[in-house]
Amino acid sequence: MAAAVTLAGQPIDVTVFEAGKQLGGRARGVEHRGVMLDNGLHILSGAYRQTLRLIRTVNPQHASALLRLPLAWHMHDEFHLTAPRLPAPLHLLAALIGARGASLADRLAMLRFLAALKRDGYRLPADCSVEALLQQYRQSEFMQGVFWRPLCVAALNTPPAQASAQIFLNVLRDTMNASRAASDLLLSRVDLGALFPEPAAAYVQERGGSVKTGNRVTKLSIEDGGFRLTTLQGEAIFSHVICALPPHQVGALIDPLPALSGVAQTLAGFDYQPIYSVWLQYAAAVTLPTPMLGFAEGPLHWLFDRGALCGQHGLLGAVISAEGAHQHLTQEALGALAHAEIERRLGRLPKLSWLRVIAEKRATFACTPGLQRPACVTPLDKFQLAGDYTAGDYPATIEAAVRSGIACGEHIIATTGHERHQPHRTTA
Ligand SMILES: Cc1cc2nc3c(=O)[nH]c(=O)nc-3n(C[C@H](O)[C@H](O)[C@H](O)COP(=O)(O)OP(=O)(O)OC[C@H]3O[C@@H](n4cnc5c(N)ncnc54)[C@H](O)[C@@H]3O)c2cc1C
Repeated sequence: MAAAVTLAGQPIDVTVFEAGKQLGGRARGVEHRGVMLDNGLHILSGAYRQTLRLIRTVNPQHASALLRLPLAWHMHDEFHLTAPRLPAPLHLLAALIGARGASLADRLAMLRFLAALKRDGYRLPADCSVEALLQQYRQSEFMQGVFWRPLCVAALNTPPAQASAQIFLNVLRDTMNASRAASDLLLSRVDLGALFPEPAAAYVQERGGSVKTGNRVTKLSIEDGGFRLTTLQGEAIFSHVICALPPHQVGALIDPLPALSGVAQTLAGFDYQPIYSVWLQYAAAVTLPTPMLGFAEGPLHWLFDRGALCGQHGLLGAVISAEGAHQHLTQEALGALAHAEIERRLGRLPKLSWLRVIAEKRATFACTPGLQRPACVTPLDKFQLAGDYTAGDYPATIEAAVRSGIACGEHIIATTGHERHQPHRTTA
């Protein structure tokens, strides 16, 4: 949708084919018992410059659709860090000095670590694992447990022993070493479909483009200098293609195109990590002490209060990121475990009205050291790749996907600039 919005703004004639009944892919709204949930709770950061720009462009309700919180890190009963509204880097300094739960030695070690990263421009001579990086900079077991490991898993959805330290530093650079606003956390107050993809579709359609949901592309071939796309509902020829499938599905579509065999080979080497979301509906009076609460140990990583976020009172969303023993549980067992864990942490709760587990088994690619990621521009002229997995600074996130989509759109605009006002059909 980021690519489509970029093109439609020019205006270039664009058609979006989406296999699902609704837009949003891995960041979509899900209806359950008449309540709008998300496939998984998503956190945006103030550093998501392009995502926030596009939301502002397409969503007239953008101001009320996002809750912006100053950087805050609440690990239940163990560690609390809140950045006051001071200019950068004072906000971070004050947050670290005032952090509750950490010893002075831990806080100083963290300051030294951040200062060393800044001195080195957040660049490593060679990529390594986040775990190795934390050991190299002597971060205590306590700080690793309550801050660094949960941050790594939240940002990269990859366990620290396997996660790319360089990508982790890129995230730190853009959130912790930039303006205060860049370190803010943003949580959606509407379901994810309503936040961006649905208003984006309206924006594209108002500019003459079309967005076809429930329309899976089943075949792609080259014909008469263009691309023939076969979908479940017919065929059409396009001048350009932006392939915005998730990485594990790209291979099957590009298989017949020999020019893309290198891309297929690169993607075949990817591994994936899951994210499980457990939604629990309690009586309306149930709330959390903060809209977002973390747990340094135990099966759940984060707990969100949808009452505080979206007015869905009594609805809690629990997140379990990356691989782990929970993957072997049935959904019923995982739901029961989540309920028991929340009671263990917060005290006795009223009876659960309902629960829903959403397992995204390939939520993101495993963001490992030195991973080769394909570029948006491919060896096949006029065929590009968009998605969170294409080459870039960020792990698999909304911002990575949006930047990639914008880059594809801008490439078409730049390479066809002289024909901008000619009819020109592109598909995403
Ligand atoms: C549970 C969960 C929690 C997450 N939390 C966060 C978070 O807190 N912050 C964050 O920034 N990121 C988070 N992410 C990651 C983020 O959701 C993804 O990085 C982002 O949505 C990827 O977007 P994409 O466009 O690259 O791919 P996708 O969202 O996967 O979009 C690909 C689209 O292609 C469609 N498609 C597939 N095959 C075809 C076909 N043949 N024809 C037509 N259409 C097809 C799919 O239906 C899908 O809509 C999370 C992901 C998950 C799953």
